[in-house]
Amino acid sequence: DAAADRFATANPESAAQLAHAAEILPGGNTRSVLYYPPFPLVMASGMGARLCDLDGHEYRDFLGEFTAGIYGHSHPVLADALHGAIKGGMNLSSQTRGEAELARIITDRFPFFQSLRFTNSGTEANIMALIAARHFTGRSRVMVFSGAYHGGPLSFGGGASATNLPFDFIYGRYNDTVATLTTLDASDAPVAAILVEGMLGAGGCIPGDPAFLSELQQWAHANGALFILDEVMTSRLHPHGLQSALGLSPDLTVMGKYLGGGMPIGVFGGRADIMARFDPRVAGAVPHAGTFNNNVMTMQAGAVGLTQVFTEEACQSLNAQGERLRARLNTVCTARGAPAHYTGIGSIMNLQCQPPHVTRPEQVARENAEMKDMVFFGLIERGFYTARRGLIALNLCLSEGDCDDLVAAFDDILAEMAHLW
Ligand code: PLP
Repeated sequence: DAAADRFATANPESAAQLAHAAEILPGGNTRSVLYYPPFPLVMASGMGARLCDLDGHEYRDFLGEFTAGIYGHSHPVLADALHGAIKGGMNLSSQTRGEAELARIITDRFPFFQSLRFTNSGTEANIMALIAARHFTGRSRVMVFSGAYHGGPLSFGGGASATNLPFDFIYGRYNDTVATLTTLDASDAPVAAILVEGMLGAGGCIPGDPAFLSELQQWAHANGALFILDEVMTSRLHPHGLQSALGLSPDLTVMGKYLGGGMPIGVFGGRADIMARFDPRVAGAVPHAGTFNNNVMTMQAGAVGLTQVFTEEACQSLNAQGERLRARLNTVCTARGAPAHYTGIGSIMNLQCQPPHVTRPEQVARENAEMKDMVFFGLIERGFYTARRGLIALNLCLSEGDCDDLVAAFDDILAEMAHLW
């Protein structure tokens, strides 16, 4: 289509870089989510809320590293913390004060973690939570949801089942309590855990119905299963995690992304009696190693980020900014008569190219993909970086003026497309 053609013409250096990278990386890529045809932009640098690509175009960053980039680029407080960490030695082959300190800061902020452990990614943390559930319950069946995403090998989008991992998965229907409870009740093997997101993140920013989530938790507790909430994406949506807003009390919670202050991280934990299975002082403990689980960069940046930058007040104001932005984008859709709307919570939202309101992942599959692409390329042309799938995740460096400009650009794009509906 014309927008993609203009994109290709305007970005020869990104195209050349992809071709060069593809000589050694399959598809030139090492993160599947970053690829889109004809080729993805290659960024050269970032500062604050801005990104610059290889062809010299500047963008306001409304993608924010798929929600992990809450601090913007090279935040000075974090940069100082990281420089300090480097000077003290980076690979100490030992436990450090830093890991206990970050663990304490996280449990102060998210008190439902009675006990926790670190990993290098949200994916690993979800896998470890499932392993914990299997050991604790002695069962191996896990309920997950079609359309959910818990990491590359735990991706259940598009109805396809991820059988990469040795768990016995059964599938619930997100936001459909009756169908899901029927599947659980009909299970011919006992269920170890229900693993669910409080809002489908990669699945399109579809908020979970509080009653649905609470029914899942109740079913788990009535049937000897663990209720595991994946808050890798949603923990930033409330000062104490989305579960505080929803009134849930999962047995285990998984987090990651921004908690490492921009460095790689995953966190899993919750009930102390479950996490005690990892205590290496106890015979028969479940092994959980990982060279970089307590790496000094992550521990230092995470601690400083949470206490000095993404404070509880900053969290509230970023989410309020997101609520305002989503409302304004939706007003534009209505005013232009466009069959589109944004779903989401607080500072994270996703464009849905169909009339309101998408509440289930199956609906996303029926959207107008061409329209979504036109919005995506239209925003790129106007200097706004979002995800091809329509994700917007705010970061702390974006101003209200940046949001005004995004709304104006979106309005301009819909005006250009108005002949389509
Ligand atoms: N769980 C959810 C809900 C996520 O959104 C993601 C990443 O987007 C993950 C898990 C995986 O985290 P990571 O990419 O750090 O492995």
